[in-house]
Amino acid sequence: MNINANPFAGRIDALPDEEFALLERAVATRACREKVGLGTFDEAASEYRSSPPCPSCGESPSKDGKTAAGHQRFRCPSCGERYSSFTGTIFEDSKKDLPTWADFIELMCWNVPIEGIAEICGLNHKTAYEWRHRVFATVDGYQDRIVLRDRIWIDETYINDTDLTHGYGEARKRGLSKQKLCIAVAIDVHKNPVAVVCGHGKPSTKRMKDGLLSHLKEGSVVVHDMEKAHRGLVKAAKCTDEAYKADVKDPVYLECMAMANNLCSWIKRYLWRFTGMDPANLQSYLNWYVYLFRVNQARDKWPRLERVVRHLMMADATYRTS
Ligand SMILES: [Zn+2]
Repeated sequence: MNINANPFAGRIDALPDEEFALLERAVATRACREKVGLGTFDEAASEYRSSPPCPSCGESPSKDGKTAAGHQRFRCPSCGERYSSFTGTIFEDSKKDLPTWADFIELMCWNVPIEGIAEICGLNHKTAYEWRHRVFATVDGYQDRIVLRDRIWIDETYINDTDLTHGYGEARKRGLSKQKLCIAVAIDVHKNPVAVVCGHGKPSTKRMKDGLLSHLKEGSVVVHDMEKAHRGLVKAAKCTDEAYKADVKDPVYLECMAMANNLCSWIKRYLWRFTGMDPANLQSYLNWYVYLFRVNQARDKWPRLERVVRHLMMADATYRTS
């Protein structure tokens, strides 16, 4: 016998399809447990959702038998609502197992286009698309809490609505036309980013304020490229100015604006992957980008996938198909 031969090979080859499918799921469950610390939704429920508050009124629940699928069921003592561990989360009603979800989430962390994710996870396109929106729902409003401080760079970047829906590389008009979507970006010296959709065309002071004002801590220094709308924003935020004339041939400008410029080009590169997206969803994509940006920064201390899975387990977010 070849000492390198896999001792399981023969037995696995001989398995009937049905048994092989079971074996595959058992292997996936164990691999998932080793990767994210949880192999099944039941394990996840006892780890993170052993006593989930009532989705209707927020009361603490009492246990109420098991669901048909064998999961813990709860009943609210105050309003009588019956629910199970993952009611009100993105996993509600999902018939797929945790390893499938973990693969899906991992691929989303690599920003793999949805067609690829569907193929690899064995999901139909509609399900994969819906899952992605469920995940996006958990980072809805995520940026609202981000306040940049001390030294902050701000800028805008523009993309054509038509680039999003039809794809890059197609012939398109040059210049800053009205149809271009504006994304206001900001990043501080602590590498906290913000990216918000800011209407069409060059933004007014009002639009800049709508987009960024709540994200700037009073007393910070805001570095920008002398755009008039920026000055109004900086004043309203009670920050101080440090402006540089936009000139890509000027090394001082480039150095000073490098933080914001880098963020703009990372965001563009990120969005290029999602050709065919509905521009109405652009803010969701940006929220996910900013969320991952922060997760990636801490990935040495806190493994990325484990952290994202935990976030999704804990997040109350229901995506409703309209
Ligand atoms: Zn209740």
